[in-house]
Amino acid sequence: CGIVGYIGTQQAAPLLVEGLTRLEHRGYDSAGVAVLGPSGIKVVKRAGRVRDLSEGLPKRFTGKIGIGHTRWATHGPANDVNAHPHTDAGDRVAVVHNGIIDNAAALRAELTADGVELSSDTDTEVLAHLIARSEADTLESRVAEALSRIEGTYGIAVTHADFPDRIVVARNGSPLIVGVGDHEMHVASDLAALVRYTTTVAHLDDGEMATVTAGGFTTYRLDPGGLAATHRRAREVD
Ligand code: GLU
Repeated sequence: CGIVGYIGTQQAAPLLVEGLTRLEHRGYDSAGVAVLGPSGIKVVKRAGRVRDLSEGLPKRFTGKIGIGHTRWATHGPANDVNAHPHTDAGDRVAVVHNGIIDNAAALRAELTADGVELSSDTDTEVLAHLIARSEADTLESRVAEALSRIEGTYGIAVTHADFPDRIVVARNGSPLIVGVGDHEMHVASDLAALVRYTTTVAHLDDGEMATVTAGGFTTYRLDPGGLAATHRRAREVD
């Protein structure tokens, strides 16, 4: 339903919670955040309100990279386990996802047959495992490889403990916006979550991916043959 992300010089968690609060009007049943800090990825997520989430955040929930989500359940009931972000078994990868993965059942069966233990009932969780299992050189290629297996709609944001300088986002049928700040960047599925921080934004197209670092962003087209740069620029919101 709603996606936020932050990478920069500040602690991510309070900014993510603030952004999620600004997406509450869209409706949701669960909320969660993941931060990537020196000790890896930490996730807090639960069914219920963003306020309950923020009150339940541990004191030491530090990291200057993070992603957050408000969920409107399509696959699996609204409970703590099904809330996003979703991770692989080793908590190396965290994913938030808006949309519906149509072939999730087949992908879940394939992963299970391969010995992967799925912890939720969601369609989204397969993405975390597919990205974690990819052996491609870059995070962008790993995400592209995982997305090439997906049929359906998505706006996603991904963090990976082995690539601690970036968030990768992608869009197919579900909006994704990159907001440019001063030595920091935001991502969101809705302008409402960004305008408090920046009015310089870039809207991804369907079939596009972006690498977002603290210093800027780069966009690519998700072509079957690989990733081709699209050189999208940010513009001022009217
Ligand atoms: N299909 C996903 C789920 O049920 C995402 C739903 C959403 O867009 O919030 O978890």
